[in-house]
Amino acid sequence: MLLPALADPTDAEAIVFGDRKLTYRELAGTASAIAKRLVGDRVAVWATPTIETCAAVVGALAAGVAVVPVNPKVGERELEHILGDSAPAQVLAAPGVELPGGLASLPRLDVDLSVRDEGLPPEPDAEAPAFIVYTSGTTGPPKGVVMPRRAIASNLDSLAAAWEWTAADVVTHALPIFHVHGLVVGVLGPLRRGGAVHHLGKFSSAAAAAELAGPATMMFGVPTMYHRLAADVEADPELAKQVAQARLLVSGSAALPATCHERISKATGQRIVERYGMTETLMNCSVRAWGERRPGTVGTPVDGVDVRLVDDAGEVVSVSDDATIGEIEVRGPNLFLEYLNRPDATAEAMHDGWFRTGDMATRAPDGYIRIVGRRATDIIKSGGYKIGAGEIENALLEHPGVAEVAVAGRPDDDLGERIVAWVVAADPAPSADELIDHVARLLTPHKRPRVVHFVHSLPRNELGKVTKRALP
Ligand code: ATP
Ligand code: MG
Repeated sequence: MLLPALADPTDAEAIVFGDRKLTYRELAGTASAIAKRLVGDRVAVWATPTIETCAAVVGALAAGVAVVPVNPKVGERELEHILGDSAPAQVLAAPGVELPGGLASLPRLDVDLSVRDEGLPPEPDAEAPAFIVYTSGTTGPPKGVVMPRRAIASNLDSLAAAWEWTAADVVTHALPIFHVHGLVVGVLGPLRRGGAVHHLGKFSSAAAAAELAGPATMMFGVPTMYHRLAADVEADPELAKQVAQARLLVSGSAALPATCHERISKATGQRIVERYGMTETLMNCSVRAWGERRPGTVGTPVDGVDVRLVDDAGEVVSVSDDATIGEIEVRGPNLFLEYLNRPDATAEAMHDGWFRTGDMATRAPDGYIRIVGRRATDIIKSGGYKIGAGEIENALLEHPGVAEVAVAGRPDDDLGERIVAWVVAADPAPSADELIDHVARLLTPHKRPRVVHFVHSLPRNELGKVTKRALP
């Protein structure tokens, strides 16, 4: 059973959004009413950050109808692609919300929390699709990832073991709820445990800190949020004291810069736990609640998940020296079923029964994985060397004149590729030469950027990830 706490619901708090809340009894009643009004085997959910979106998802899960979460900021072209690709029979939205494009012409079910019913349909098959989640589109057009209930249940239990996560935990976050981070880990995670989620609506350090000093025990965030939190706890000791009361701060969705980890640690004593996951696999690796918090690493595979590194020739990397780079391949009950309508992409992503993540990493002697970047955009082949962009980005962030940075390779007649850095400068702004020398000194000379572009901001998507294909 995916959400056991709904089978015999109590008056314990389940979901809180600002001053609106649902107990498990209320959530079960709302889910029952929604489940009875669904048609077809796939529905779109207009995924605004609201309690209605959570109720809609739980209702559809109860009915065994697959949910296609739609980012409410979706553009016309992408919406057309998603609707054409997934063909939902119905759209669920909060009452009174206006829907754009093709969604407006679908049969609509308003998610009215005051409408409740009793009894839930029998538990659907574990292999039935729970979601079709579109990837972030960081590297190309988003693909519809078909995710079975089994993957969610098993992964949430692995995370519970890794983070010592129980019904007593209250999770706070401000993540969007149309990607797996916010929706599966951040909403279904607490519900599977029988605990509560307190969604902040919109991230602010003050709201997060107040939750952590109050009911919340854990926070989930992306690096851009922790970046803001770092600046705010440094500036305000009271805020730092509040954050210090958390049981666990977890970061994921993109690499957490080592400098950000250290700044928060210094100001609050909290050492952030980093985990690594993706839409297709849910969470693969994490630092354990009791484990060493080594900045720049994502810990070891979570229970039940097999992870291996594979070299360019497709051979398994057997050394664990924290230096040899290989592509991460994953196997386990956490895997998706397929990319919707994309048998080509599904087949291409598999290698001897293992899923090719496209992420490159090294492994330390004790098994800790360090992600160095994506195969497609972050591995720079320069002067005969294979260099991970992440290592250079981390080095640049250690320079006080660098606020944000992205590094990528660009074609070069002599080197094959040259290392280029796009830098948002801090105050006082550094010179390009100063930054180039800094990297040469800190790492090795061949890892120094050949070109530094100073920019006002970096192109980022909804989760704050730098979209490198949008760099000039
Ligand atoms: P698309 O597949 O459409 O290009 P995407 O890969 O960004 O988009 P997601 O599935 O949301 O879509 O993101 C998964 C990716 O995010 C991983 O493959 C990895 O590159 C990155 N990622 C997640 N967690 C971490 C982490 N802790 N450190 C570094 N990278 C991470
Ligand atoms: Mg991806």
